[in-house]
Amino acid sequence: MRWCHSSLLHLLCCLRLRVCTRKCRFRPPVLLRELWAYVKLVLQSLQYNSLTNSDVVFDSVFEPVFWTVDRITRWFGMVFVCLVVVLTSSILVICYMILLPMVFATYHPAWITWHLFYGHWNLVMIIFHYYKATKTSPGYPPIVKNDIPFVSVCKKCIIPKPARTHHCGICNRCILKMDHHCPWLNNCVGHFNQRYFFCFCLAMSMGCMYCSISGRNLFLDAYNTLEPLLMFFSSSKTNYQTPSPPYTFRDRMVHKSIIYMWVLTSTVGVALGGLTVWHAVLISRGETSIERHINFKETKRLAKRGKVYKNPFNYGKLNNWKVFLGVQKRSHWLTRVLLPSGHNPPGDGLTWDVLPFKRDTVPV
Ligand SMILES: [Zn+2]
Ligand SMILES: [Zn+2]
Repeated sequence: MRWCHSSLLHLLCCLRLRVCTRKCRFRPPVLLRELWAYVKLVLQSLQYNSLTNSDVVFDSVFEPVFWTVDRITRWFGMVFVCLVVVLTSSILVICYMILLPMVFATYHPAWITWHLFYGHWNLVMIIFHYYKATKTSPGYPPIVKNDIPFVSVCKKCIIPKPARTHHCGICNRCILKMDHHCPWLNNCVGHFNQRYFFCFCLAMSMGCMYCSISGRNLFLDAYNTLEPLLMFFSSSKTNYQTPSPPYTFRDRMVHKSIIYMWVLTSTVGVALGGLTVWHAVLISRGETSIERHINFKETKRLAKRGKVYKNPFNYGKLNNWKVFLGVQKRSHWLTRVLLPSGHNPPGDGLTWDVLPFKRDTVPV
């Protein structure tokens, strides 16, 4: 690569010199000369910068793609939020207008009580955590001079970055304990709203699975009744017979609504359920989605030197969950986990208690 660049530059310079010696009168326009100087500078900086590696070249080449994706995600942020609200509301309407009357008509009072209790608890958990996840700031490092320990400097914000802080290209600022930017929330997931994000994912997955399991028999009935209906319409075209349709317009709408609800809740339940399990694994390990990649690289790097990497923010499975959920005493499992709670996570997101490992093993 180095040889290619230097050879290419040398060749271009020689050609330029020859052109100049043969036709000394010719001078390219200022714009072309400036462009040539810029290209030369870019090539030289890529070639001579000691920090340049394949990652830098990859980032530079794909920068326009990242830029476009970031802009689109930023512009469509509210569209995704509206989509979540509209789809969830449509399922709620079907539940209240179709599912609940059927539960009242067919189930035993004990089952009706359980359905009413669980369904509404699940609904409150979804609404509360979604609202808090979208409205709570993930946390930003201070931009004024301070004495907070930092591990690096953000190249875009030009401010010191505390441990676990990362820059979000969509929000265009640094985020404390950044996990990822969530387009469905139109917000970054960071130190102060990660619990709301996870609890929303969990509650939404549980709600979808609840609808999918509860409405399974209704779905099968609706699907089986729609099939003969479709056959009836297709055969009526060929036989020119006009028997009265077996179902009214309202019946058909009810059947289609049940099929829509079951397909949507089953799909979201499986997809979001998988995501929730993955995040639960990360929380158990005491790492964020970004730290997962960093820690994986560090593990490989140190393994080559015969060393074992240990995540300094991993306090043990149970303690990681206690720290994440803000559980400090037994009653908090009820008041802070099973019930909606607006408490802040422990710590300020700027400094972290680290286990006493060597300094060079701290991820940045
Ligand atoms: Zn930044
Ligand atoms: Zn963001």
